[in-house]
Amino acid sequence: MPKVRVIGGGLAGSEAAWHLAELGVDVDLYEMRPHNMTPAHSTGLLGELVCSNSLKSEELSNAAGLLKEEMRLMGSLVMEAAEAARVPAGSALAVDRHEFARFITERLENHPRVNLIRQEVTQLNPNDGLVTVVATGPLTSKSFSSVLQELTGGEHLYFYDAAAPIVSADSLDMSKLFWGSRYGKGDADYLNAPMTEEEYERFWQALVTAERHELKEFEREVFFEGCMPVEVLASRGRDTLAFGPLKPVGLTPPGWSGRPYAVVQLRIDNRERTLFNLVGFQTNLKWGEQERVFRLIPGLERAEFVRYGVMHRNVYLNAPAVLRSTCELRDHPGIFIAGQLSGVEGYLESSASGILAGMNAGRRVRGLEPFSLPEETVFGALMSYVSYEGKENLQPMHVSFGLLPSAAAKGGKKQKRLAQAERSLRVLATFLNEHDLGPVSRGHEEDDR
Ligand SMILES: Cc1cc2nc3c(=O)[nH]c(=O)nc-3n(C[C@H](O)[C@H](O)[C@H](O)COP(=O)(O)OP(=O)(O)OC[C@H]3O[C@@H](n4cnc5c(N)ncnc54)[C@H](O)[C@@H]3O)c2cc1C
Repeated sequence: MPKVRVIGGGLAGSEAAWHLAELGVDVDLYEMRPHNMTPAHSTGLLGELVCSNSLKSEELSNAAGLLKEEMRLMGSLVMEAAEAARVPAGSALAVDRHEFARFITERLENHPRVNLIRQEVTQLNPNDGLVTVVATGPLTSKSFSSVLQELTGGEHLYFYDAAAPIVSADSLDMSKLFWGSRYGKGDADYLNAPMTEEEYERFWQALVTAERHELKEFEREVFFEGCMPVEVLASRGRDTLAFGPLKPVGLTPPGWSGRPYAVVQLRIDNRERTLFNLVGFQTNLKWGEQERVFRLIPGLERAEFVRYGVMHRNVYLNAPAVLRSTCELRDHPGIFIAGQLSGVEGYLESSASGILAGMNAGRRVRGLEPFSLPEETVFGALMSYVSYEGKENLQPMHVSFGLLPSAAAKGGKKQKRLAQAERSLRVLATFLNEHDLGPVSRGHEEDDR
């Protein structure tokens, strides 16, 4: 059987390579790091998380929780790595980022069917007959961006994401912080910094007037709502943060008689609990300004910033024009696009599209037609959404229950979502059984019995 080429060893490329290899297909996996780094990656490890260490909620009534279950059913390497590297985070799944990426790297390096090539790919001949998965991500190298532009005949859309700062635990004033999870969900895994109205007002004033990095000429100021810089959100109004990511509800600081005006949450960033990231604080402020402004948060007066918030280019394709819901390019059968490049947004979504692209590249190479996932599954619904022909102005999209057909269920919103989720998992299990998806899915059928 001919081998398959996978370009990019991030979340999507790692999943794609793993699934192909497990299906018995030889893979050449190209990764340009550590020789050529992106502005956000800091190691040569495969599957590195570039920002938050959270893979979001585990609850089935949450779309991210449902997607995780779907990925587990499909034999996800990323989910396996997340289990192995899990750190406490209430009802969310958060990981030690180094252990997580090390797990993925070791699995792929040690797989007899994976040939890892540490090299930047700068060309792609669509007529060379090699089935290919392109998973070079939102920070695709410049030269390869031009290749993709030429290949798809369309335009890349550029916009910016922002990453939150990380502070060291031993630089925090614990006497002003308290442990707790909002609404008491799960264990008390977040550190919380409560603010009085006066403290909030001072912080807000400093935030909205702080100096920001200037955007370069070709960069457009289009922020994806889910990852909007904190200063942009704050500039919408004095209380936007207090009603949004800093809302004080569900959190009671010990020794306070009333409710705080706002609460900043800090999430555990590594297993040793020596690092914390500021939840919702993606930012484009200059580094000195980040120190000045964020040290106005009670408990962070002497905070040491081990990583500053930064902003990055984010490249993705105009999927409705060029992509099928199978992840295959409409005009180039045999070339699959996976990860954030395909118009999905998020760690899980990118990984899931790597699974789908890997499975379908495996089918293509065996002379079988690629498949789309059923639209009753949350990932099938997302792929259908992003590749919907004729759709204009695609913005990268998360999974959500809003994408799924409704399900009849008695009770409130949660019951309806649970009914949708149960249907999704039932439909997916049947679909995987009915299709010849090779040892990955067959292994899971055996596990389930
Ligand atoms: C700054 C930033 C912060 C983000 N924060 C979050 C977050 O907190 N939570 C979340 O859910 N999502 C976040 N995202 C969105 C998205 O989930 C991640 O970017 C995710 O890593 C995308 O997965 P991917 O596999 O598509 O790309 P990546 O994981 O970036 O993998 C692409 C890989 O391709 C390699 N590569 C690039 N060009 C070439 C080439 N020419 N040849 C060979 N190799 C190449 C890169 O080195 C990289 O390893 C963020 C995105 C950015 C840019």
